[in-house]
Amino acid sequence: MSSLSLNNIKPTVASAKAFLERGRQKMFINGEWVDAYDGSTFETIDPGTGTVINEVAKGSIAEINDAVAAARAALESDQWHNMLPVERAQILNKIADIMDENIDELSELETLDQGKPLYVSRWAEIPGAIDQFRYFAGIARTIEGQTITSSIGYQPEGKKTFSYTLRHPLGVVACITPWNSPLVLTAMKIAPALAAGCTIVLKPATLTSLTAVRLVEICQQAGLPEGVLNLVTGSGSTVGEALAMHPDVDKVSFTGSTEIGRRVIKSAGESNLKKVQVELGGKSPQIVMPDADLDLTIPGVANAIFFNGGQVCVAGSRLIVHKSISDQLVEGVAKYGREMVMGHGLDPKTQMGPLVAKSHAESVKKYVDDAVSVGAELISGGHILGSSGCYMEPTIVGNVEQDMVIFKDEVFGPVLTVSVFEDDEQALMLANDSPYGLAASIWTEGLSNTHRIADSINAGTVWVNSHLMFDAALPIGGWKQSGWGQESGHQAVSNYLKDKTVTSII
Ligand code: NAP
Repeated sequence: MSSLSLNNIKPTVASAKAFLERGRQKMFINGEWVDAYDGSTFETIDPGTGTVINEVAKGSIAEINDAVAAARAALESDQWHNMLPVERAQILNKIADIMDENIDELSELETLDQGKPLYVSRWAEIPGAIDQFRYFAGIARTIEGQTITSSIGYQPEGKKTFSYTLRHPLGVVACITPWNSPLVLTAMKIAPALAAGCTIVLKPATLTSLTAVRLVEICQQAGLPEGVLNLVTGSGSTVGEALAMHPDVDKVSFTGSTEIGRRVIKSAGESNLKKVQVELGGKSPQIVMPDADLDLTIPGVANAIFFNGGQVCVAGSRLIVHKSISDQLVEGVAKYGREMVMGHGLDPKTQMGPLVAKSHAESVKKYVDDAVSVGAELISGGHILGSSGCYMEPTIVGNVEQDMVIFKDEVFGPVLTVSVFEDDEQALMLANDSPYGLAASIWTEGLSNTHRIADSINAGTVWVNSHLMFDAALPIGGWKQSGWGQESGHQAVSNYLKDKTVTSII
């Protein structure tokens, strides 16, 4: 069994403490910080201790209507509409600079709110969020159309045609984000949307709204004009749904579960046919070939599933390992998991923190218990530790059949299933047997095998001898039911642009 070390942990960064102590967090509409119009709030909880750390304004449809109206007015305002690309880039860089100055505060808030170990916030996710703003500050000055030589032959005698394209901001964008990596996933939407000249209504996940509030303050401090970025906190079923249905929203950029993604697509279709981008769930395979370097592969496979408690859309949750090395590999990963230090995210020794909420940990454990009840083998872990009810052990489940729920569903916790293969065809068949197609990894020393398998995997991202490698310049997005579209990379700005073709007789 893993051990849980719970020390008496408190935030140490003065500005993080001050943020939490100032009372309830407000929403931001048309350049003003406001309470919910009816005064409602919801509590936000530190999953490491189960205690309430803050209250947040709970918005409703009235606030959504005002936020959308503010975003529409800002979109059409001279100040934003006519802002030079270089000025937009300066604001994006300034946002990044202020985030950098406050990186310790942002990291502590993210860890307290979500539970993730501080090293994940401080060295991976908050720097990743900052980098999105810097990257798209550069892209803001590269948005350009084309001139096109057409083959039109029916213009008046002696004349010819001249065609070109213009790129316009797509309009008012609703950004709806999940709780697993709150700030970086928000930055992946806001940075390209601002670079494109859109205006935004942001709705963060209820479980983790704090760093969104802080980010919006930073954007205001960086000089973003009023109405360009609005924040409405509150529940997905009211404010999220109201955004997806709203007739004056031009696009919803959604990251979250496949189930809610479907609802967003339906709402968009039933309202004004707004554009929809959905970045959804995953069930990513890790294929380990017989020639894999186990010194690299054992910690690599373990990290791919246990990092952030497996609460990562691209977590490598299905191990597909060659029969000849499966015992050695699985024992190595199980040992790695057992030795991980579990504790409060703010404890510097912590390698795996709590899951985001007690109800979520219970749902993860239920997947494991149900699998065992239908014949799967619990190889390691499987228990919830600690009084907050959120600490789920690193868990490995063997004897997994393809028709078991645990092989198919996204568990979104530190749970690895093991399937064994005998030849490459079987490995590929198992890897591709999923409704999802977000990511995959291949662990091998064989070069030609690598590229053949990478080519045959049905997923938007393939890593070789690694997993969870991200960069603002690398596009990421899902195939199959893992989503529509890609974020990051220079093409991501096109998610927030609309094109126009102009043809004239000259
Ligand atoms: P979720 O339950 O789908 O919620 C995502 C967001 O949608 C939250 O802000 C939620 O608000 C809101 N929402 C809920 N109901 C809504 C509705 N009817 N209309 C509009 N919005 C609504 O997902 P989650 O549990 O927060 O996040 C985990 C999921 O996100 C996993 O499936 C994971 O794989 C996926 N994910 C995907 C990616 C990717 O890039 N592909 C990245 C990260 C996470 P509330 O919080 O108030 O419910």
